[in-house]
Amino acid sequence: MANTADFIWFNGEMVPWADANVHVLTHAMHYGTSVFEGIRCYNTPNGPAVFRHKEHMERLKNSAKIYRFPIPYSTEELMEACRETLRVNKLESAYIRPLGFVGNVGLGVCPPADTEMELIIAAFPWGSYLGEEALENGVDAMISSWNRAAPNTIPTAAKAGGNYLSSLLVGGEARRHGYAEGIALSVDGYLSEGAGENIFVVRNGVLSTPPATSAILPGITRDTIMILAKEMGYEIREENIAREALYLADEIFMTGTAAEIVPVRSVDQITVGEGKRGPVTKQVQEAYFGLFNGSTEDKWGWLDPIYPS
Ligand code: PMP
Repeated sequence: MANTADFIWFNGEMVPWADANVHVLTHAMHYGTSVFEGIRCYNTPNGPAVFRHKEHMERLKNSAKIYRFPIPYSTEELMEACRETLRVNKLESAYIRPLGFVGNVGLGVCPPADTEMELIIAAFPWGSYLGEEALENGVDAMISSWNRAAPNTIPTAAKAGGNYLSSLLVGGEARRHGYAEGIALSVDGYLSEGAGENIFVVRNGVLSTPPATSAILPGITRDTIMILAKEMGYEIREENIAREALYLADEIFMTGTAAEIVPVRSVDQITVGEGKRGPVTKQVQEAYFGLFNGSTEDKWGWLDPIYPS
């Protein structure tokens, strides 16, 4: 699948893919001053629709707000720019990458106070992040030797470019050791999240996931799963989770827009449950993917059609 398309929306214009470039002195390249989103458009029975579009664009604006770099577009303007990007590229199912960044404003670490972020929206076909096979068979993961950022250092609620150096350390270490993904603990030693995914631990039919205070990105897929699982009658807990709870779990799964819902079959070479996708994970996956194939009713208005009728 080609990770490319014809046009990228760039500061309000549709620019040919190959021409969507920036200067080497772009501030974000030097200091990580960018915020971004990962969103998916699914080809549903009612046509292509962006999943939880508004929530993603609001998170983008909130990530920028934390760093005091306003994004000069309303949420609705961002959503329409995104729909337009999908339409001009004739995409039906795609991964969407909006990115706000501090541009070529000089190399002072603190740019002028009135600096607004530049903005691009790219969209292109992209399969499940950890592979289609992983959705069914699960992945082997390891606890990283790297912790997530401590509170009041780098805010993990912002989806900011610089934060992904942490994800690179966590995910890169795991891959070098032959694992599909790395899982990080917070500085106080509790479970935090995967390099690019939130985590759920299932034990005795109860779903637990780390709270916002465990240095996580408050994932939109995480939120979706909490709502869907509650509908299915599961108890959901946001609570501190000890490392060993992973080893003793009946099931573990990771959630993210790019990764979707991925079972974890082992952690640190300790088999999780039966060592394969468990029944709760399968049920949650079916409910989630059902939103896109029509078998789960979208009661929440989460699907934003790109060709409104
Ligand atoms: N944590 C991190 C570090 C991530 O990069 C992502 C992917 N955006 C997630 C969690 C999952 O978030 P979401 O479900 O909103 O994609």
